[in-house]
Amino acid sequence: MSIKKLTCLFNGPTKSFTRCFSLHKLSEEHLMLQKTCRDFAESELKPIAAQLDREHKFPAEQIKKLGELGVLSINVSEKYGGAGQDTLALAIAVEELSRACGGTGAIVSVHNCLYVNLLDKCGTDAQKETFLRPFTSGTLGCFALSEPDAGSDVGAMSCTAVLDGDHYVLNGTKSWVTSGTVGKAAAVFATIDKSLKHKGITGFLVPLPTPGVSLGKKEDKLGIRASPTCNLILEDVRVPRDHVLGAPGGGFKMAMEQLDKARVGIAAQALGIGQAALEVAVAYAAQRKAFGQPINKLQAVKLRLAEMSLKLEAARLLVWRAALCCDEPRRTTKESSMAKLAASEAATFVSHSAIQILGGMGYVTDMPAERHYRDARITEIYGGVNDVQRLVIGDLIVKEYE
Ligand SMILES: Cc1cc2nc3c(=O)[nH]c(=O)nc-3n(C[C@H](O)[C@H](O)[C@H](O)COP(=O)(O)OP(=O)(O)OC[C@H]3O[C@@H](n4cnc5c(N)ncnc54)[C@H](O)[C@@H]3O)c2cc1C
Repeated sequence: MSIKKLTCLFNGPTKSFTRCFSLHKLSEEHLMLQKTCRDFAESELKPIAAQLDREHKFPAEQIKKLGELGVLSINVSEKYGGAGQDTLALAIAVEELSRACGGTGAIVSVHNCLYVNLLDKCGTDAQKETFLRPFTSGTLGCFALSEPDAGSDVGAMSCTAVLDGDHYVLNGTKSWVTSGTVGKAAAVFATIDKSLKHKGITGFLVPLPTPGVSLGKKEDKLGIRASPTCNLILEDVRVPRDHVLGAPGGGFKMAMEQLDKARVGIAAQALGIGQAALEVAVAYAAQRKAFGQPINKLQAVKLRLAEMSLKLEAARLLVWRAALCCDEPRRTTKESSMAKLAASEAATFVSHSAIQILGGMGYVTDMPAERHYRDARITEIYGGVNDVQRLVIGDLIVKEYE
């Protein structure tokens, strides 16, 4: 059953999910969404996740089905073909998919948080008809902000956009573009005046393929290998002026605001990967015997499981809180950064610990623990490295108490 149909069961055709007022108990609607996504993940993703990882394979068929379910436009308004749900619904869906396949979770998270939601929030009506509506049901979009020499330091961007009549001409290289090999459009950020630093950065909507855009090699990654990543190389790419997203010079602020939301998506992805690792460890510890008893009777193993579960559940509360905050009309940088930091570190801790509980079996590809460990690592890096998240949170705390 699609998310849209699920919503209708409870709210009639136009309303969104009722807000979950308590963090310890999801609303019935969110629980149903969770079940729908979990069932899909168990039947469609879990059985192929190891193969997707091994073969670096994009899950084309599954993405198409997720589009039909409404999972590629969870927060997008119904007016443009979206499911019109809240950010908590998005976090729940991404967690469930990532629990089965971290790479698919990444694809869905980036498409929702950094492409369709960006268009829904900042696009004109005409832009939404071209660049949003067709992207709500199975066609993917990308977000091209990073560059080879501008990652954390976005202001160092060197990709240029020069006005020529009624077009901008874009030149430069955008790096690490998630879904770059399969996406049909990208929100590309370039500077219209490098001397203005952040204030020169502008967003452009670029259909893919487009004359002048070529793809770099597909990156050979440690984890989330179902999610294809590549450079976009821009050589005299002509973009009509009406494809400017937001105001010229407003791209930095727009991207940063959108990244607040993306951090909730990444945090949810981390929760799913961590949850999967915990479950592998619990199941293995129940059946593996050492010294005449299952290893889950050993105090050392129980203590490890307790730490794993504690970190994950604490992070989940922060993620759900950040998701709820995202639907309020204000910046949610602190909540989003805290959620991303806590969940990504929980995921790497839990997946590391799971390998320890599995012993030698944690180190081989016969079991999924090593994949979860590799998949978890990216969540500490993309969407803003964790060192920067700490600095951002620290700055905000200092200001709060000034
Ligand atoms: C698989 C993958 C997918 C990605 N998808 C996308 C995408 O779809 N779109 C997109 O635009 N980008 C994407 N990225 C880029 C990602 O967001 C950047 O890699 C990330 O922001 C870090 O930038 P960097 O790699 O240049 O690291 P750098 O900025 O070079 O940072 C390296 C290290 O330096 C330290 N450091 C840097 N700055 C600071 C600071 N101010 N304070 C303290 N320490 C600091 C940290 O230890 C940091 O880990 C993706 C990356 C990967 C790997």
